[in-house]
Amino acid sequence: MKNTLTIKATFKHSLWFIILIAGLLSGCVTKPDIAPPLGESTTKKAEFMLSFDDGPLPDTTGRVLDALATLKAIDGKPVKAGFFLLADAPDKFWQQRLYYAPYELWTDKGSIAKYPKVAQRIKQAGHFIGNHTTHHAWFHWPWLDAPEAVLAEFTEWEAISKRVLGAPNTRLFRPPYFILTQNGRETANRLGYQIVMGKSVGDAIPDITVDEIKEKTQSILAAWHKPYPCVLTFHDNRPATYGHLSEIVSYLQQQGFRLVHFDPERL
Ligand SMILES: [Zn+2]
Repeated sequence: MKNTLTIKATFKHSLWFIILIAGLLSGCVTKPDIAPPLGESTTKKAEFMLSFDDGPLPDTTGRVLDALATLKAIDGKPVKAGFFLLADAPDKFWQQRLYYAPYELWTDKGSIAKYPKVAQRIKQAGHFIGNHTTHHAWFHWPWLDAPEAVLAEFTEWEAISKRVLGAPNTRLFRPPYFILTQNGRETANRLGYQIVMGKSVGDAIPDITVDEIKEKTQSILAAWHKPYPCVLTFHDNRPATYGHLSEIVSYLQQQGFRLVHFDPERL
């Protein structure tokens, strides 16, 4: 009888032990939280830089500079951007047809020569300045893709820029329309330029809305998995940008994307 009781008690204890182990294995029993490994970056969203093409222009470029002064990079300081300026874009309709893409009908583009004070304000605010050619050359025009014509687009820009802004401490080049011909690439390399491409936010598309730009930039950054920041390309002469830059960038920051300063060494 006594033996029977001992067997029953042992069986009862073993049963509780089995239930406890099963509970642990199935996750029913609370387990201590396990911290993720240090340096894990899978939850961090993409970093992005800001760049602006086709200035300088009075009013619109100034509005972009005002907005940038209020936008904070991840270090808490007002963000620095890259400005790819034109030295002297043509302002006559028929001159524009010699330089601009044939499909491009809007015409209000920048000029360091005509608006030197705007260009100087960009520099004084600490932003980077790059070469976007003298006239906004569409290098698919055969008369602009000739080696001497390509060289002139660079060197005239340099002469005007040096007169207004002094010698640059960086040599950055962004080809208009992102068209990089062999002549363009070779000339940029020979003159010691760093070629800076970017992801277009779509602000040059006629009638694009601010919400569409938010959606487009959001999907660009969600798909960005490279180990360096994404450079977003805006135009400081487009209404969606000069009127709504803070709203667009703040939206991206709210989505968790991280605004960093424009930095050619991180490209
Ligand atoms: Zn451009």
